[in-house]
Amino acid sequence: MKIDLTYIPPEGKKLDFEFSQEWWKPDLKEDRIVGLVGPISGWVKIQPVGKKISVEGSLSTRLRLRCDRCLEPYAWDLSKDFRVFLSLAPFAGELDLELSEDDLNLEFIHGNLLELDQIIKEQVILSLPMKTLCSGECRGLCPTCGCNLNLTTCSCSSKFETPLYQHQ
Ligand SMILES: [Zn+2]
Ligand SMILES: [Zn+2]
Repeated sequence: MKIDLTYIPPEGKKLDFEFSQEWWKPDLKEDRIVGLVGPISGWVKIQPVGKKISVEGSLSTRLRLRCDRCLEPYAWDLSKDFRVFLSLAPFAGELDLELSEDDLNLEFIHGNLLELDQIIKEQVILSLPMKTLCSGECRGLCPTCGCNLNLTTCSCSSKFETPLYQHQ
């Protein structure tokens, strides 16, 4: 979904969005997200602020994440508000010291078109927890035979029930 920034009035422009379940494509940078369980929807408000464009909004969806421990997918609800500031273009000549590298979000703006998909996608990735766990009690995979210890027990598993394993 591309938004033409040419026609944004000073007071801003608000719009709703909804992307289907199929919208999420596998991302090599964040392979813990297997996909979406349902559509992703929300709203954004786009407003010029000085030399920048403010994009604030809200999104909600249900993700399918891969568990860090047992590698099985599980559903995870996400609902978040966000606000980002984007620069329209890198400033040639004088370096604007107020701009950090993060401000030069060139992947989000091409010409005068704002790539809303990219912004939403980044917000989804940023919202992931440090560790994705299907449950706090997930027992993970057996380090020896690789079986899923939530579903089965193997003959080697008892040897690994040590405090060292508990910290992983
Ligand atoms: Zn798990
Ligand atoms: Zn085993």
